[in-house]
Amino acid sequence: MAIRNIVKVGDPILEKTSRKVEKFDARLWQLLDDMKDTMYQANGVGLAAPQVGILRRVVTIDCGDGYMELVNPEIISEEGEQFEDEGCLSLPGEVGTTKRPAVVRIKAQDRNGKWCVYKGEGLKARCFCHETDHLDGILFTQKVIKKVIE
Ligand code: ZN
Repeated sequence: MAIRNIVKVGDPILEKTSRKVEKFDARLWQLLDDMKDTMYQANGVGLAAPQVGILRRVVTIDCGDGYMELVNPEIISEEGEQFEDEGCLSLPGEVGTTKRPAVVRIKAQDRNGKWCVYKGEGLKARCFCHETDHLDGILFTQKVIKKVIE
């Protein structure tokens, strides 16, 4: 078990575009295992590799219905809209209402390189969008339509 440091807002790595994973090797598996531990330790529902300082297209998610690993995720369809409050482990204390699609389908590879398609609604749809945004250097604060004062 290894907990990695979570990069906080202000670090330029969070604004960079992550590169595709091409090697599904022990180094990737170590990254995924560490991201899983780091996400759970921080009580997060999702974590993207740039948040632990690695510019690779790797995401871990658990919205309360099971742990997922998404490698090279790509959103393939979006339907409807939702307006909910959102936060981020890299922006502690910041909460804002974002507009996101209500239903999102995403394709991604697993840790062995096998492609799968996943459907997310509600929180999971938001999470798919939020985490894939991280891989393109986008923070949720760029999508906030109303800031929530805590
Ligand atoms: Zn985030």
